[in-house]
Amino acid sequence: DYGGPTIMNKPSSLTYFERDMASVVHPQTNLLKHLQTGPTIVTHGEGVYVYDDAGDRFLDSGAALWCNSLGYGSERVARVAYEAMQKLTYFQLFRGYSHGPAIDLSERLLQIAPVPMSKVLLQCSGSEANDSAVKIVWYYWHGLGKPERRKIISRQGSYHGSTCVAISLTGNSSYHKSFGLPFDGFIHVDSLNYYRSAKPGETEEQFSQRLADALEATILREGPETVAAFWADPVQGNAGALPPPKGYFEKVQAVLKKYDILFVADEVICGFGRTGSMWGSQTYGLQPDIITCAKQLSAAMLPISAILMNEKVFDVVKNESNKQGAFVHGFTYAGHPVAASVALEVLKIYDEMDIAARVKSLEPVFLQQLDGLTDHPLVGAVSGVGLIGGVEIVKDKETRASFDAGVDIGGRIVENARKNGLILRVASNRIAYSPPLIISEDEIVDIGTRTRAALDDTLAEVRAL
Ligand code: PMP
Repeated sequence: DYGGPTIMNKPSSLTYFERDMASVVHPQTNLLKHLQTGPTIVTHGEGVYVYDDAGDRFLDSGAALWCNSLGYGSERVARVAYEAMQKLTYFQLFRGYSHGPAIDLSERLLQIAPVPMSKVLLQCSGSEANDSAVKIVWYYWHGLGKPERRKIISRQGSYHGSTCVAISLTGNSSYHKSFGLPFDGFIHVDSLNYYRSAKPGETEEQFSQRLADALEATILREGPETVAAFWADPVQGNAGALPPPKGYFEKVQAVLKKYDILFVADEVICGFGRTGSMWGSQTYGLQPDIITCAKQLSAAMLPISAILMNEKVFDVVKNESNKQGAFVHGFTYAGHPVAASVALEVLKIYDEMDIAARVKSLEPVFLQQLDGLTDHPLVGAVSGVGLIGGVEIVKDKETRASFDAGVDIGGRIVENARKNGLILRVASNRIAYSPPLIISEDEIVDIGTRTRAALDDTLAEVRAL
């Protein structure tokens, strides 16, 4: 998973450059290499662009980490935060205390939910939302007198967060290896990459059926009476912005229904317009019992996340909390009034912009740019929906072979993109795009142009190896 400096950055601001290396531990970074390459110091942003301390400008095709839906810099939201901070700096939601921002935001989320939802538990991050949702699932089955229903099934290629439980949900062994994770009872079913995993001649629908059959076989192998929930991110960001194959969710949900397994949709990257509907669940017909969301919920201007649960779940959770004396779960900052005020204002802005319709209207231009890359020798396939897109990187188009890890093709593409003024993410051998939703048509075309230049430069490099 690339997204940061990999080759050599210019030490243009010696103080910050050296002080970073002397003091900062960077997430998702080779820490030894970082001491040689140093950081890229980002100074500010404007619209879809960020600037480094050398004054260079980059088009951010990933909205940082699928975050900055409204781009960089918002005086309007800043004013809301300023006022909220003065009015009620902080107060908890524990033991029945409440405040306007938490109530308004929860109510608004229920209004716009893709399926009827009953209640909202506000949290601080996507990881916390998924982690807490696992606890809610376990609490639910305890409440129903079936505590043996504990196993959680998720998919290879998924990412659900970095806490011990959220990373156990995550279907990527490289995140588990040196931590002795995942915890027992977290089961990962097959990847849904049609391009990589379909059998010769298999249609997308047939591939989806095979995945649903494999899910059912897993449930039967484990014992349906031990399976608590199935977790899915509608489009898998960490698998390189990978959309589901045709018919996938319809077939999978039929299996879940058959065995009375709860369905949790991780909308952390898909929620709030990204796929051309307000929710990925709408784009792909998901009927989840629980939804987790974060990131674009506040356009990442402050950290906040949410868990939405339906009445079936809440009813049991409510009764179990009564039996136990309280719902004994809570983060100090959950539902923080300043963050909730910011999220509420961001949702207002989405409303005014008609965000999902805006994304839908930009989708053809975006897909055209992706399609335009298919003739490139390094590109095996492209896929996209709304303003999320993936480009499969191959060494050989015919055989679909990938480059050896030693070539570091992802790192090279990211670095060449940077030289071409573009911030790109490469995950799982795919370029993953998720630009700010405020992006213009011209800027989308610019992403295509700069990507092609980066791919050309990378091709020249690897041919010279
Ligand atoms: N779920 C998904 C689908 C994500 O992409 C992410 C973060 N990239 C998370 C959960 C975790 O969110 P956070 O980093 O806010 O904890």
